[in-house]
Amino acid sequence: MAKGSLYIISAPSGAGKTSLVKALLEQDSLICVSVSNTTRAARPGEVDGKDYHFTELAEFDRMIAAGDFLEYAEVFTNKYGTSKRWVEQTLEEGRDVILEIDWQGAAQVRELMPEAVSVFILPPSRPELERRLNNRGQDSDEVIAQRMSEAVSEMSHYDEFDYLVVNDQFEQSLSELQAIFVARRQLLASQQLRHGEMIELLLK
Ligand code: GDP
Ligand code: ADP
Ligand code: 5GP
Repeated sequence: MAKGSLYIISAPSGAGKTSLVKALLEQDSLICVSVSNTTRAARPGEVDGKDYHFTELAEFDRMIAAGDFLEYAEVFTNKYGTSKRWVEQTLEEGRDVILEIDWQGAAQVRELMPEAVSVFILPPSRPELERRLNNRGQDSDEVIAQRMSEAVSEMSHYDEFDYLVVNDQFEQSLSELQAIFVARRQLLASQQLRHGEMIELLLK
Protein backbone atom coordinates (compact mmCIF):
# COMPACT_ATOMS: atom_id res chain seq x y z
CA MET A 1 0.00 0.00 0.00
CA ALA A 2 1.17 3.55 -0.73
CA LYS A 3 2.67 5.31 2.24
CA GLY A 4 0.66 8.24 3.54
CA SER A 5 1.76 11.87 3.42
CA LEU A 6 2.45 14.08 6.40
CA TYR A 7 0.88 17.55 6.70
CA ILE A 8 1.66 20.24 9.25
CA ILE A 9 -0.94 22.91 9.99
CA SER A 10 -0.04 25.89 12.17
CA ALA A 11 -1.80 29.12 13.06
CA PRO A 12 -2.09 31.55 15.95
CA SER A 13 -4.60 30.39 18.53
CA GLY A 14 -8.11 31.34 17.36
CA ALA A 15 -7.34 31.58 13.64
CA GLY A 16 -9.60 28.58 13.01
CA LYS A 17 -7.26 25.65 12.40
CA THR A 18 -9.16 23.19 14.60
CA SER A 19 -12.49 24.08 12.92
CA LEU A 20 -10.99 23.86 9.42
CA VAL A 21 -9.27 20.54 10.10
CA LYS A 22 -12.46 19.10 11.60
CA ALA A 23 -14.45 20.10 8.50
CA LEU A 24 -11.73 18.73 6.22
CA LEU A 25 -11.79 15.34 7.98
CA GLU A 26 -15.57 15.13 7.62
CA GLN A 27 -15.16 15.35 3.83
CA ASP A 28 -12.00 13.31 3.31
CA SER A 29 -11.85 9.84 4.81
CA LEU A 30 -8.22 9.28 3.78
CA ILE A 31 -6.90 11.81 6.29
CA CYS A 32 -6.52 11.50 10.05
CA VAL A 33 -5.28 13.93 12.66
CA SER A 34 -2.67 13.26 15.32
CA VAL A 35 -3.94 13.64 18.89
CA SER A 36 -1.23 15.52 20.79
CA ASN A 37 -0.21 15.10 24.40
CA THR A 38 -0.54 18.31 26.41
CA THR A 39 0.01 19.40 29.99
CA ARG A 40 -2.75 22.05 29.61
CA ALA A 41 -6.03 21.51 31.48
CA ALA A 42 -8.97 20.31 29.37
CA ARG A 43 -11.42 23.00 28.23
CA PRO A 44 -15.11 22.44 28.90
CA GLY A 45 -16.25 19.84 26.38
CA GLU A 46 -12.79 18.60 25.47
CA VAL A 47 -12.46 14.82 25.66
CA ASP A 48 -9.29 13.03 26.80
CA GLY A 49 -7.96 10.87 23.96
CA LYS A 50 -10.01 12.74 21.34
CA ASP A 51 -8.98 16.41 21.53
CA TYR A 52 -5.73 15.75 23.38
CA HIS A 53 -4.12 13.17 25.59
CA PHE A 54 -4.13 15.28 28.77
CA THR A 55 -0.89 14.41 30.52
CA GLU A 56 0.65 15.31 33.90
CA LEU A 57 3.91 17.26 33.63
CA ALA A 58 5.96 14.47 35.26
CA GLU A 59 4.59 11.92 32.79
CA PHE A 60 5.21 14.31 29.88
CA ASP A 61 8.85 14.74 30.97
CA ARG A 62 9.21 10.97 31.28
CA MET A 63 7.92 10.63 27.70
CA ILE A 64 10.46 13.22 26.49
CA ALA A 65 13.26 11.26 28.16
CA ALA A 66 11.97 8.00 26.64
CA GLY A 67 12.07 9.54 23.14
CA ASP A 68 8.31 9.10 22.67
CA PHE A 69 7.83 12.42 20.85
CA LEU A 70 8.39 13.18 17.17
CA GLU A 71 8.45 16.81 18.34
CA TYR A 72 7.47 18.76 21.43
CA ALA A 73 7.39 22.41 22.40
CA GLU A 74 6.34 24.78 25.13
CA VAL A 75 3.44 26.97 24.04
CA PHE A 76 1.72 29.47 26.39
CA THR A 77 3.46 27.90 29.44
CA ASN A 78 2.13 24.43 28.63
CA LYS A 79 3.94 21.59 26.92
CA TYR A 80 2.59 19.95 23.74
CA GLY A 81 4.01 16.95 21.93
CA THR A 82 3.30 14.57 19.03
CA SER A 83 3.50 10.79 19.46
CA LYS A 84 6.27 9.43 17.25
CA ARG A 85 4.97 5.86 17.22
CA TRP A 86 1.40 6.77 16.23
CA VAL A 87 2.53 9.03 13.36
CA GLU A 88 5.00 6.47 11.98
CA GLN A 89 2.50 3.61 12.19
CA THR A 90 -0.34 5.58 10.60
CA LEU A 91 1.83 6.77 7.68
CA GLU A 92 3.06 3.20 7.24
CA GLU A 93 -0.58 2.07 6.91
CA GLY A 94 -0.86 4.45 3.95
CA ARG A 95 -3.04 7.04 5.62
CA ASP A 96 -2.39 10.81 5.42
CA VAL A 97 -1.67 12.43 8.77
CA ILE A 98 -2.24 16.04 9.89
CA LEU A 99 -0.26 17.54 12.76
CA GLU A 100 -1.91 20.63 14.28
CA ILE A 101 1.18 22.03 15.93
CA ASP A 102 2.88 25.34 16.65
CA TRP A 103 5.72 26.83 14.57
CA GLN A 104 8.45 25.42 16.87
CA GLY A 105 7.12 21.89 16.40
CA ALA A 106 6.72 22.52 12.65
CA ALA A 107 10.43 23.43 12.43
CA GLN A 108 11.41 20.22 14.26
CA VAL A 109 9.26 18.03 12.00
CA ARG A 110 10.57 19.75 8.85
CA GLU A 111 14.13 18.83 9.91
CA LEU A 112 13.19 15.18 10.48
CA MET A 113 10.79 14.76 7.56
CA PRO A 114 11.54 17.33 4.83
CA GLU A 115 8.85 15.81 2.60
CA ALA A 116 6.13 17.03 5.00
CA VAL A 117 3.76 19.60 3.47
CA SER A 118 3.17 22.59 5.72
CA VAL A 119 0.28 25.05 5.77
CA PHE A 120 -0.02 28.25 7.79
CA ILE A 121 -3.42 29.74 8.54
CA LEU A 122 -3.73 33.50 9.13
CA PRO A 123 -6.80 35.35 10.42
CA PRO A 124 -7.92 38.33 8.27
CA SER A 125 -7.06 40.88 11.01
CA ARG A 126 -5.99 41.18 14.63
CA PRO A 127 -9.39 42.45 15.88
CA GLU A 128 -11.05 39.47 14.12
CA LEU A 129 -8.62 37.07 15.82
CA GLU A 130 -9.49 38.52 19.21
CA ARG A 131 -13.20 38.37 18.38
CA ARG A 132 -12.88 34.66 17.54
CA LEU A 133 -10.98 33.88 20.74
CA ASN A 134 -13.69 35.68 22.72
CA ASN A 135 -16.54 34.06 20.76
CA ARG A 136 -15.13 30.58 21.27
CA GLY A 137 -15.83 31.32 24.91
CA GLN A 138 -13.55 28.61 26.23
CA ASP A 139 -10.60 30.53 27.63
CA SER A 140 -10.42 33.04 30.50
CA ASP A 141 -9.80 36.74 29.75
CA GLU A 142 -6.29 36.30 31.06
CA VAL A 143 -5.58 33.33 28.76
CA ILE A 144 -7.06 35.21 25.77
CA ALA A 145 -4.87 38.25 26.50
CA GLN A 146 -1.82 35.98 26.65
CA ARG A 147 -2.73 34.26 23.36
CA MET A 148 -3.29 37.65 21.64
CA SER A 149 0.06 38.91 22.89
CA GLU A 150 1.82 35.83 21.49
CA ALA A 151 -0.14 35.80 18.21
CA VAL A 152 2.17 38.26 16.44
CA SER A 153 5.25 36.24 17.26
CA GLU A 154 3.54 33.01 16.09
CA MET A 155 2.31 34.72 12.89
CA SER A 156 5.80 36.09 12.16
CA HIS A 157 6.77 32.52 11.17
CA TYR A 158 4.18 32.31 8.37
CA ASP A 159 6.87 32.47 5.67
CA GLU A 160 8.52 29.22 6.81
CA PHE A 161 5.51 27.27 5.43
CA ASP A 162 4.79 25.86 1.96
CA TYR A 163 1.19 27.16 1.75
CA LEU A 164 -0.69 30.09 3.24
CA VAL A 165 -4.47 30.14 3.78
CA VAL A 166 -6.19 33.32 4.99
CA ASN A 167 -9.22 32.19 6.97
CA ASP A 168 -11.68 35.01 6.29
CA GLN A 169 -14.77 33.27 4.86
CA PHE A 170 -14.82 29.78 6.36
CA GLU A 171 -16.20 27.85 3.35
CA GLN A 172 -13.75 29.54 0.99
CA SER A 173 -10.81 28.71 3.28
CA LEU A 174 -12.00 25.12 3.55
CA SER A 175 -12.03 24.78 -0.27
CA GLU A 176 -8.53 26.22 -0.43
CA LEU A 177 -7.28 23.78 2.19
CA GLN A 178 -8.94 20.85 0.38
CA ALA A 179 -7.26 21.91 -2.86
CA ILE A 180 -3.84 21.62 -1.22
CA PHE A 181 -4.55 18.02 -0.18
CA VAL A 182 -6.02 17.07 -3.55
CA ALA A 183 -3.09 18.56 -5.47
CA ARG A 184 -0.54 16.85 -3.25
CA ARG A 185 -2.04 13.45 -4.05
CA GLN A 186 -1.55 14.04 -7.78
CA LEU A 187 2.22 14.54 -7.45
CA LEU A 188 4.06 12.25 -9.86
CA ALA A 189 5.76 10.14 -7.18
CA SER A 190 2.48 9.56 -5.29
CA GLN A 191 0.63 8.65 -8.48
CA GLN A 192 3.40 6.23 -9.51
CA LEU A 193 3.01 4.45 -6.17
CA ARG A 194 -0.77 4.36 -6.44
CA HIS A 195 -1.13 3.52 -10.15
CA GLY A 196 2.12 1.62 -10.82
CA GLU A 197 0.42 -1.39 -12.43
CA MET A 198 -1.92 0.69 -14.56
CA ILE A 199 0.94 2.84 -15.87
CA GLU A 200 2.96 -0.30 -16.65
CA LEU A 201 0.05 -1.71 -18.68
CA LEU A 202 -0.41 1.58 -20.56
CA LEU A 203 3.24 1.70 -21.56
CA LYS A 204 3.70 -1.99 -22.39
P1 GDP B 1 -5.93 26.44 19.99
O1 GDP B 1 -4.96 26.24 18.90
O2 GDP B 1 -6.28 27.85 20.27
O3 GDP B 1 -7.14 25.56 19.93
O4 GDP B 1 -5.14 26.04 21.31
P2 GDP B 1 -4.49 24.65 21.79
O5 GDP B 1 -4.33 24.75 23.28
O6 GDP B 1 -5.23 23.51 21.24
O7 GDP B 1 -3.04 24.63 21.20
C1 GDP B 1 -2.01 25.49 21.72
C2 GDP B 1 -0.78 25.53 20.83
O8 GDP B 1 -0.12 24.33 20.89
C3 GDP B 1 -1.06 25.74 19.33
O9 GDP B 1 -0.09 26.62 18.80
C4 GDP B 1 -0.93 24.39 18.75
O10 GDP B 1 -0.58 24.45 17.39
C5 GDP B 1 0.15 23.85 19.61
N1 GDP B 1 0.14 22.42 19.64
C6 GDP B 1 -0.88 21.57 19.80
N2 GDP B 1 -0.47 20.31 19.78
C7 GDP B 1 0.85 20.37 19.58
C8 GDP B 1 1.86 19.37 19.44
O11 GDP B 1 1.65 18.15 19.51
N3 GDP B 1 3.11 19.79 19.25
C9 GDP B 1 3.42 21.10 19.19
N4 GDP B 1 4.67 21.42 18.98
N5 GDP B 1 2.50 22.06 19.30
C10 GDP B 1 1.23 21.71 19.50
P1 ADP C 1 -7.78 27.43 16.58
O1 ADP C 1 -7.87 25.93 16.60
O2 ADP C 1 -6.90 27.95 15.48
O3 ADP C 1 -7.42 28.02 17.91
P2 ADP C 1 -10.70 27.39 16.31
O4 ADP C 1 -10.94 26.44 15.19
O5 ADP C 1 -10.97 26.95 17.71
O6 ADP C 1 -9.22 28.02 16.21
O7 ADP C 1 -11.54 28.71 15.96
C1 ADP C 1 -11.64 29.80 16.86
C2 ADP C 1 -13.06 30.35 16.81
O8 ADP C 1 -13.28 31.04 15.59
C3 ADP C 1 -14.12 29.27 16.90
O9 ADP C 1 -15.18 29.73 17.73
C4 ADP C 1 -14.56 29.10 15.45
O10 ADP C 1 -15.90 28.68 15.38
C5 ADP C 1 -14.38 30.50 14.88
N1 ADP C 1 -14.03 30.55 13.45
C6 ADP C 1 -13.19 29.74 12.77
N2 ADP C 1 -13.09 30.12 11.47
C7 ADP C 1 -13.89 31.21 11.32
C8 ADP C 1 -14.24 32.08 10.20
N3 ADP C 1 -13.73 31.90 8.98
N4 ADP C 1 -15.08 33.10 10.43
C9 ADP C 1 -15.59 33.31 11.67
N5 ADP C 1 -15.33 32.54 12.76
C10 ADP C 1 -14.49 31.50 12.60
P1 5GP D 1 -4.73 25.04 22.55
O1 5GP D 1 -4.17 25.00 23.93
O2 5GP D 1 -5.50 26.27 22.28
O3 5GP D 1 -5.45 23.76 22.18
O4 5GP D 1 -3.46 25.08 21.55
C1 5GP D 1 -2.55 26.13 21.59
C2 5GP D 1 -1.45 25.92 20.61
O5 5GP D 1 -0.70 24.71 20.85
C3 5GP D 1 -1.95 25.81 19.21
O6 5GP D 1 -1.25 26.76 18.43
C4 5GP D 1 -1.60 24.41 18.81
O7 5GP D 1 -1.30 24.33 17.44
C5 5GP D 1 -0.39 24.07 19.66
N1 5GP D 1 -0.23 22.66 19.79
C6 5GP D 1 -1.18 21.76 20.06
N2 5GP D 1 -0.66 20.54 20.09
C7 5GP D 1 0.66 20.64 19.83
C8 5GP D 1 1.71 19.69 19.70
O8 5GP D 1 1.55 18.48 19.85
N3 5GP D 1 2.92 20.17 19.43
C9 5GP D 1 3.15 21.49 19.27
N4 5GP D 1 4.37 21.86 18.99
N5 5GP D 1 2.19 22.41 19.36
C10 5GP D 1 0.94 22.00 19.64
